[in-house]
Amino acid sequence: MNTYARQPVAFVRGQGAWLWDEAGKKYLDALAGIAVNTLGHNHPRLTRALSEQISRLIHSSNLFQVPLQEQAADRVAAITGLDEVFFCNSGLEANEAAIKVARKYGHERGIAEPAIIVMENAFHGRSLATLSATGSRKVQAGFEPLVQGFVRVPLNDAEAVRQVAGHNRNVAAVFVEPIQGEGGINLARLEYLRELKEICDRNEWLFMSDEVQCGLGRTGQWFVYQHAGFLPDVVPLAKGLGSGVPVGACIVGGRARGVLKPGNHGSTFGGNPLAMTAVCTTIDTVRDEGLLASAARVGAAVRDGLAAALRGVDGVVEVRGRGLMIGIQLDRPCGELVRAALEAGLVINVTAESVIRLLPALILSDAEGRELIERLVPVVRAFLASPAQARAAAAGR
Ligand code: PLP
Repeated sequence: MNTYARQPVAFVRGQGAWLWDEAGKKYLDALAGIAVNTLGHNHPRLTRALSEQISRLIHSSNLFQVPLQEQAADRVAAITGLDEVFFCNSGLEANEAAIKVARKYGHERGIAEPAIIVMENAFHGRSLATLSATGSRKVQAGFEPLVQGFVRVPLNDAEAVRQVAGHNRNVAAVFVEPIQGEGGINLARLEYLRELKEICDRNEWLFMSDEVQCGLGRTGQWFVYQHAGFLPDVVPLAKGLGSGVPVGACIVGGRARGVLKPGNHGSTFGGNPLAMTAVCTTIDTVRDEGLLASAARVGAAVRDGLAAALRGVDGVVEVRGRGLMIGIQLDRPCGELVRAALEAGLVINVTAESVIRLLPALILSDAEGRELIERLVPVVRAFLASPAQARAAAAGR
């Protein structure tokens, strides 16, 4: 189906933070498959572990014991601080599981029609339930009727949540993306997250943190809620969890522990030995190579470097982010920058129309961070200074 607007480039090989196209041209990858390739491309430890597992066993099904699934679950429980793990294959599936947990939790508390508080501009996926939870009309349009049971509030507005708590007895959970990725690298304030958690505790709601894009070490901690200093009840993960091998997980603890029981949920592919090898190796390698500290250090240097290089440039509104999750907000639509960056040997993304999004692999070195700035800044400057942009800016004034 014609569901993607693709760039006219095909990558055929990768090494570390670098990609090569069919013609042999080399690119610095500042996107990592949209926050997927945690360890970069062709990481020797991951490649070896996957190759060995492929020749041993790829899949056996959840009708039998899967020791590697238990090993992966132990690791995921350890880094999240939570207790129970359900493995699936993608972010939307992890979020579907989270939504089911919230509904079942609500029913167990005697709520006939449980509701979940969700945020404006959030992105949770493209299945019917997750697109209904998503705060974007563009994602929802054409797929009505939406799944019911979501109450939407603005991000970073704890008072709006308190008001819902005051009049809606059906709420069972709050679902928040603590750094909105697709929505434009919008950061939930840490103080706001702590307030939200307090409201959840007071009302016995579940706190559900969608860390599909921002989690797994990208921000310098394994998860954003760890910056805020508390444990959520439900954490959906995917993207970076398998460093490129499709895998998702919904992890629960606290009030959500034990909510789903045998027969309540399942997935044919979920938790197969190949994907679990990717999970174990990704987590072990992030830990052994000190990639959390590296993501924090290189990310801060890239953000500061970009902010300094773009300060005062007409059209640049803000450089924001945490660790290696960085957005450059411009004052105008800038989708064409992706093509210009490719020409300059750099892979980036533009989201929410006017935000340049950078999500490089966690193995990005200090030198590659500087290279990223050196390649990106002239492209942004040239775009903003181009005659067409100058005309558009003048017309808008
Ligand atoms: N949640 C968040 C925060 C995401 O960024 C995404 C994908 O971009 C999803 C969920 C959906 O993940 P998937 O595309 O693997 O279904």
